Amino acid sequence: MNELRDLTTGRVDAVASAQTSTEERKAFGGPLGATAMMVLLPLLTVYLWACVHLRGGALAVPDAELLAKLPLPTAKSVLWTVGWLGFQLALDLYLPGRAYTGFPQRDGRRLVYRLNGLLSLVVTLLVLGGLVLAGLVHGSAVLEQLGSLLVTAILFAYLLSAFLYVYGRRYRPEGPGNEPEVRLVMQADGSAAASVSSAVSADKLVYDYFMGTALNPRVGRLDLKMFFESKIGMTTWMVLTLLMAHADYESDGKISLGMGLVCLFQLLYVVDFYWFEEAMLSTWDINNENYGFMLAFGFVVWMPFTFSLQSQYLVYNVPDLSVLAAVGLSLLNVAGYYVFRTANLQKHRFKSDPGAKIWGRAPEFIQTRRGTKLLASGWWGLARHANYFGDLTMALAWCLACGVSHIVPFFYFLYFTPLLIDRERRDDQHCARKYGDDWTAYSKRVPHRIVPFLY
Ligand code: NDP
Repeated sequence: MNELRDLTTGRVDAVASAQTSTEERKAFGGPLGATAMMVLLPLLTVYLWACVHLRGGALAVPDAELLAKLPLPTAKSVLWTVGWLGFQLALDLYLPGRAYTGFPQRDGRRLVYRLNGLLSLVVTLLVLGGLVLAGLVHGSAVLEQLGSLLVTAILFAYLLSAFLYVYGRRYRPEGPGNEPEVRLVMQADGSAAASVSSAVSADKLVYDYFMGTALNPRVGRLDLKMFFESKIGMTTWMVLTLLMAHADYESDGKISLGMGLVCLFQLLYVVDFYWFEEAMLSTWDINNENYGFMLAFGFVVWMPFTFSLQSQYLVYNVPDLSVLAAVGLSLLNVAGYYVFRTANLQKHRFKSDPGAKIWGRAPEFIQTRRGTKLLASGWWGLARHANYFGDLTMALAWCLACGVSHIVPFFYFLYFTPLLIDRERRDDQHCARKYGDDWTAYSKRVPHRIVPFLY
């Protein structure tokens, strides 16, 4: 039943929340943009698969011949997907882990996390290596099933998002960011009133399905967002990359220089991710972004299948890389890694210990009226998101390791750049709302957004 609350009785907080939700509801183009993304992004991943696997990495015209070859799920792909999810789930739940208390989330709560990602990755790679050596797993067999595995993952992402939507609506915790929908309605006497509604419009259903209805859903001791982001997104990406290297080896008895570099660069990224696993607890995804289709699709489909595009491409192509070029790419990757890692660590350590030195000096910061501090020295004094700059530099190195004859292996860098530009702007708006004038002062002091001295 709709509950009418008169604006003049001081329910300003409800209306403010309504305005915030309305603003947030505009992200990604609102319900229309969300619908388009839910249709187009899965199609894009299938298209990229087709370019690499049916056209050797060239951009493909989606003609009848191509459409006839598009993959469908197979019994094998479904079985492998279920087995893989079960294996990763067992490692997540039963391997020993360290307990960490997370940072205050958007709704003010602090959750305790059990982290065992590095051990889980090591066990996964040892088991995989053992199965490959025993001749029970072949990269070429996975390569052959990759299209079906991709479509199976897409269908699974839709199902997972439906579960997350229902979960969020049933167990939606109260607090900022989880307010019921509030609309302004005209009353008979002409005055405005705020209407708090529990009804679900089609627009809201679609948008909530896309953006999510719960922040950090948990089933028993399984944290669904952490599990799918790390164990499924990151580990599956790494395993697919290594299996593509094995497929390369099976095809001509050796691994190309480009493939070797891509494997090493990406292994560094994934091992680093798990080494500093607790740094994830202070990220925007964990503390601010609801868990819906956008993240579910990102973790289950986008990360494993598009982050491994370079290694998929390199099974069919051998770029002409000189040793000098390989050294240059390695330096580029290490430089990007250095910026990415040290920037993220500076913020993480500053939040845990605001007195810890940065680049040998006491940290400079802006004391906010909320009681927290904004770091304004180190990388955070050169750009407001230099960590994104490091990430983009690494992305460029991975793509360049594929040579420059096709654009498809550059997809990662080409989509990642606008994604991080948009993400920085969304985070900027979020921080401006959260910190008000203190954020304005920080932005004046650190005018560059991502690239120190440039942008
Ligand atoms: P950040 O780790 O940069 O976190 C942003 C948050 O940090 C803000 O919301 C704010 O949160 C806090 N913050 C911002 N400025 C300051 C400051 N000066 N001092 C103290 N706290 C500050 O963002 P992300 O979670 O987006 O990125 C984390 C890493 O993950 C990055 O390295 C990024 O490159 C990477 N990434 C990778 C992706 C991929 O697809 N490979 C996708 C997205 C990110 P609060 O107000 O709560 O403190």
